[in-house]
Order: sequence, then C-alpha cells, then structure tokens
Amino acid sequence: GTLSIAAILAETATRRPEAPALYFMGQAITYGALWDQTRAYAGALTARGIGPGSRVAIVIPNVPDFPRVYYAALALGAVVVPVHLLLKADEIRFVLEDADVDLAVVAAPFLGEAAPAAALAGVPLLTVLAPEGFTIDGEPVARMEAEAAQATPIERYTALHPLAAATILYTSGTTGTPKGAVGSHLAAVEQVHTWLLDTVEYRPDDVLYGGLPFFHTFGQTVVLNAGFRRGAAIILLPKFDPDEALALLVQHKATVFAGVPTNYAAMIAAAGRNPDRPPLRYGISGGAALPTALLEAFEAEFGAQVHEGYGLTETSPVASFNLVSEPIRPGTVGKSIWGVDVAVADADIDDRIELLPESELGEIVVRGHNLMKGYLGRPDATDAAVVDGWFRTGDLGTVDREGVIKIVDRKKDMIIRNGYNVYPTEVEAVLSRHPAVSLAVVFGVPHDEHGQEIHAVIVPAEGAAADPAELVEYVKAKIAAYKYPRVVHVVEALPLGPSGKILKRELQRIYSD
Ligand code: ATP
Repeated sequence: GTLSIAAILAETATRRPEAPALYFMGQAITYGALWDQTRAYAGALTARGIGPGSRVAIVIPNVPDFPRVYYAALALGAVVVPVHLLLKADEIRFVLEDADVDLAVVAAPFLGEAAPAAALAGVPLLTVLAPEGFTIDGEPVARMEAEAAQATPIERYTALHPLAAATILYTSGTTGTPKGAVGSHLAAVEQVHTWLLDTVEYRPDDVLYGGLPFFHTFGQTVVLNAGFRRGAAIILLPKFDPDEALALLVQHKATVFAGVPTNYAAMIAAAGRNPDRPPLRYGISGGAALPTALLEAFEAEFGAQVHEGYGLTETSPVASFNLVSEPIRPGTVGKSIWGVDVAVADADIDDRIELLPESELGEIVVRGHNLMKGYLGRPDATDAAVVDGWFRTGDLGTVDREGVIKIVDRKKDMIIRNGYNVYPTEVEAVLSRHPAVSLAVVFGVPHDEHGQEIHAVIVPAEGAAADPAELVEYVKAKIAAYKYPRVVHVVEALPLGPSGKILKRELQRIYSD
C-alpha cells in the first residue's frame, strides 16, 4: 500500500470544499481554495525538478503559504525540512547542508538570514510574499507566486510507501549539534488518527488557535495536520502576541487553544486586560511541564479545562495525554495514547533497556507507531537513542499502576547540590503558586562549595511586586531544605525559543557569570 500526509488536505478539500480551512488577516480561505493554490505551488515545484525523495526546506511563519508549500512538497513525494524561524544564517546553512536540501522556500521577511545561508550551501531559493520586482543585492529573487501562475497545477498527490520519509525535523541542539529526526508518512498519519479518535475529539465545526509554529512538531501535528484531517478551521497567527491572540480567538469564536506553558501564562495576563472571552471547549498543553497553578488560572479565566500531554520531536510528537473523555489529572501527562507504550527504564544502563517496577523513578522510554525512523545520517546517535525498540527520551519520570505518567524532569536539568538531587520542575511548581509569580524557572549554576547552586528566575504577575527574599522564604516553608532556591532573580521577560519554550540553558549561562 501507499500513503501520503498530503491526503489530509486533498481529501478534506474534496469532501468539504466550501468549509473554512484558515482564517488569516480577517479573511477565510476555504479547503477548496487552499488545495487549488497548493496544486499550483506543486506545479511550480515540479517545474523546478522536485519529485519523490527531493528535499524541500521551508522557512515560513504561520501564514497560508506554510500549508501551501508543506502540502505541495509532500504531494509530490518530497521530504519537507521545516526550519526554525529564529535561526541565524550559519545555523540555517547547517540544516540545508546536513539535510542535503534541493530547494529552499523562504518567506521574504526571513531572506536576511536565509538567502546568505542558501547561497553558501549552494541551494536554490524561491520566495513567497516578496513583492514583484523585489531584489537582494540588486538581483531579482525567484517568486513562487509568479512561477505557480505559469506552471501546470498537479491533479493528484503522489502516495509513497507508508514508511517513506516525509519530514526532517531538527532537534533544538541544546545538548550538541542539532540532529534531524526523520519522520514517516505513517507515523504522522497514525498520530493524527489516534489524536482525533480518542485523544481530543476535534469536531468539523471547531475553530483552532493556530499560533503554535508549524515548523515545530507540536503545531504541525496537533493543530495543522489534525485540524485539517477533521476539516476544522485554523486561526493563523504568525507571531505570538497574547493580546492579539485573545482578540483573534474572540473574533473567530475559537473553541480549542493549544500552547506551551508560557503561552498559557501570557493568555492569563492578557485576559486581565480584556474582558472578552472566546467559547473555548478546552486547552491543550505540551512541550514543557504545565504548573498546576497555570492550569487552574486558565480554567478560572476562560472556563475551559487544560489537557496536558507529553511528547518529543522523535515521537511525532504525542506519547501521552490527559484524554478529553476522562477527568484530567493535574500534574501528570496522562496515559500513553493508543498503540504507544510508555515505560520507565533504569537511566544508568545505556546498552539495554531494563524496565523498572511501577511507580519507580527512572528514564521514560517510548515504543510504538509514533517513533521517528532515526536521526538523519547519524546511525551512532540513533543507536544510542533507540535501544531494544524503545526510544530513550532523556526525561525522568514515573508510571503508576493505572498507567498514569508523571514527568519529573529532564535528566540533564537535574540539579545536584551537596550530593542531593533536586528536580527543578518541582521547585517551579511551588514558586508558581505564589500570587506574585507569573512564570518561574529553576536551574543549577556551578558552585565551588556545593557543586551546583539552585537559582530561580521569576516573571512577576501583572501589577504584582515580587520580593526575592520573601520568595525564598515562601518556598523554604513548603519543601525540604535541600531543594529551595538560594537565589531568586526577578525579570521582566524570559528568553524564549521559537516554539515559546523557556531557554533554560541561556539563563544558566547568564547567571553563571
Ligand atoms: P527544547 O530543548 O527546545 O525543548 P528539544 O529538542 O528537546 O527542544 P522537543 O522535542 O520540542 O525538543 O521537546 C521534547 C521535550 O520537551 C521532552 O523531552 C520533555 O523534556 C519536554 N516536554 C514535553 N512535554 C512535556 C510535559 N508535558 N511535561 C514536561 N516536559 C515536557
């Protein structure tokens, strides 16, 4: 048999051509129109020699051109390489070369970094959103819109072997050089079906918030692919701004919000400035631990429960979730999704998987239809990560008798102070309960005497005055003495990665000096 992610758009367009697929800048784009534009883009890519197995990089924010280029390339059987939008020229060049990219499609605002990268990597470039006559260094740029107008649109999508490569998604590289996780058509489609069938239950009349970047696995799978498979509408927001997000959610009567925890904190703050509310059915959180205080505050402000899940780029991404059909269990990431096993292994044994008894703390391992094919060109790294068919996540956690999973922390984020293990997530959860705190991050900083010292950085809640000494005392009264932060820094804003996750290593670097 054969399969293609492109069927998600193509077949929804056949069945519901008049239904809205996207809301963007006050306009609705129907599934029929979006698929027609995608077929034209695929015609332009064909004229450029793109076909089965070609690799197409995408440097585009959440605007209609992202799905157009994404599904056009997939419809031709090409492999899509979405690029993080905050990358600098050298980093983009690394991705283009490492993935052996044949063509890069770049939104005009990102040409500043992407054009030199493509030139150095020797990769041809097509732009979207550049005005006619647009030049770089006096040279005209090739415009996708113009080439699509000249090309013959494709009729149908090409389906491939289900395990053929569909995407190459780069890990953030916080622990070394970025690695390209190769995902198959099967893993992506299976993930979407499992998600829709018993995880979230989207409805065709749902309106999804689409501010999570599509270049990242979370937004790409849970919002774009799952939303389109169901025939729901997606509100596009190219750059996250909580006040704008809230206004759009209200305007388009959004029913589902999906975000990382920092997005939830920002939405709660925005709600304090704007009394209007969208008719949300529920929220979806993932990517980092959601402090229970945020979950409760969001429910109080928006009247919608937040369902937290857990996953990684390498697991396409969802491995576990607090199902919408069951009561949520705050502070947990729910149970493993259908067809996926989540277990706990001895974190100190590298060469084989030694599963631990229920409720014991160890490394979370995942097995199932959602695993990546491997890291591109890195058999060593793949073999180290996938052992006996299990993917080692690098996260520490527990699974109880009922199969409920708790993520305690990342192995590499654990702080060892005076020989005691401290898990930052636990300390962050306590700090987040303080009324003056909006967001809290806890991390270790090298220390001559203690090995590591426990630091916290907090962003105060709207209008609140946070006193570092009082915050230290507050945590000290609530948890064991070896765990409380010795130093609390109060800041206006945190360094965030492109998906909205807090850049802990950046904070560590700043406060280590
Ligand atoms: P980054 O370092 O920017 O997080 P990454 O390359 O590790 O990126 P992802 O695949 O986006 O990339 O992140 C996966 C990681 O996110 C997991 O290993 C885990 O540490 C964390 N994570 C995801 N969901 C949750 C959750 N619900 N609770 C706690 N941690 C989570």
